[in-house]
Amino acid sequence: MTKSMVVLGSTGSIGTQTLDVAEKYNMKICALTAHSNVKLMEQQVRKFRPAIAVMYDEAAATQLRTAIADTDTQVLCGMEGLIEAATMDGADVVLNSLVGMVGLEPTLAACSAHKDIALANKETLVAGGELVMNTVKEAGVALLPVDSEHSAIFQCLQACPDSKFLKKLILTASGGPFFGRTRDELQNVTVEQALAHPNWSMGAKITVDSASMMNKGLEIIEARWLFDVTADNIDVVVHRQSIIHSLIEFTDNSVLAQLGVPDMRIPIQYALTYPDRVTSPAGELDLTKVGILTFDKPDYDTFECLTACKTALSKGGTSPAIANGANEAANLLFRQGKIPFLKIGELVTGAVANVKSVPITKLSDVLEADRTAREYVWQAVQ
Ligand code: MG
Repeated sequence: MTKSMVVLGSTGSIGTQTLDVAEKYNMKICALTAHSNVKLMEQQVRKFRPAIAVMYDEAAATQLRTAIADTDTQVLCGMEGLIEAATMDGADVVLNSLVGMVGLEPTLAACSAHKDIALANKETLVAGGELVMNTVKEAGVALLPVDSEHSAIFQCLQACPDSKFLKKLILTASGGPFFGRTRDELQNVTVEQALAHPNWSMGAKITVDSASMMNKGLEIIEARWLFDVTADNIDVVVHRQSIIHSLIEFTDNSVLAQLGVPDMRIPIQYALTYPDRVTSPAGELDLTKVGILTFDKPDYDTFECLTACKTALSKGGTSPAIANGANEAANLLFRQGKIPFLKIGELVTGAVANVKSVPITKLSDVLEADRTAREYVWQAVQ
């Protein structure tokens, strides 16, 4: 089991649930980082006494420094602070639950500092792909998935002794709040409606990604890198109840699934205790209460983000980083009420088609693709 841990993004949904697990099992917390939630960070610092606390926002760091002046915790800020936390001595595992591309550099730095990674920041793998996987291999560290779907596949793969027996991965998707709706019916949906996820309680960015199905597109790309399979060997099935978290199919057409109540503490904990299992604060699954499990085909025309991600993956190079960068910009514009919901898919599709994609040889290729994709979106909505 993980002995000591750094939590990047500790005040978010995954971060707070990670600290629930850490508290239950007395894991040592070496560093915590957040964007700007000073109040919650202060509580976390007082409870877990990390050596370092990072506020990404500089003004928030100044406030936190005053608030916890009576403690021994050192307060840092910005990307520099994140990297310092991600590479600090004494930590075994870095749990990365940052939101967005900002998670990429700390992941790379943590790998190079020989930390195992528990990854909840999907943008890291989507944008960095091969670069991240090569860094993981070179450093000889473990990369353990926290996302529920990838954790499910990882758990199923424990029963697959050789990758030659694996035929495909089947990712389940809840379909979000807008499953079954036509483009016409989605013309005027509001931010509040997009934020009302039927099964999972998550942060705003990922909840909107779930409504647009961009989240599943990102997860396809993430799965391609995590499990070294081709895009053609990854299927998506809409499963409204979010009880089956994903499945794998073997060459003999036998299919294995992982099930559980939709509670992120199960996959978070597995990433931290792997290969062991311990009791969980999450509830038991009562199949007789669930009753019916349903499966549907995704609607690739209406939810075009999903199609754009598949296109980006087959184009390769920086195309997935472009899809991700365009989505981060478009998702925010939608949440700010500046563009309608369907515009997100249009912008991501447009960016993948029009922004120049190049092979990735270094980090700056990814950062440049991300920047250009955001620029494309901002220009397009002028
Ligand atoms: Mg997921």
